[in-house]
Amino acid sequence: MKMTKVLQQLTKSQGKVPKVAVAVLLVLFGIGFFAVGFDQGQIFSLVQGHQAYGQMYLHEMTHDMRHASGFPCH
Ligand SMILES: [Zn+2]
Repeated sequence: MKMTKVLQQLTKSQGKVPKVAVAVLLVLFGIGFFAVGFDQGQIFSLVQGHQAYGQMYLHEMTHDMRHASGFPCH
């Protein structure tokens, strides 16, 4: 008499995305979206003060990306 064993391994995925990860990614997306699309010196003014509005380093750095993605600028 011959016995055959069939072994099966099932992997069940929970399929749950951590809500903390979603929240962190949404915050990062919001900051990036603002920096690329709308910043006119506001972000650097937190550290640099009022002169950041005149220099607009972040604006100049993301300027081409802003135009390429269709945000109005000037
Ligand atoms: Zn522009």
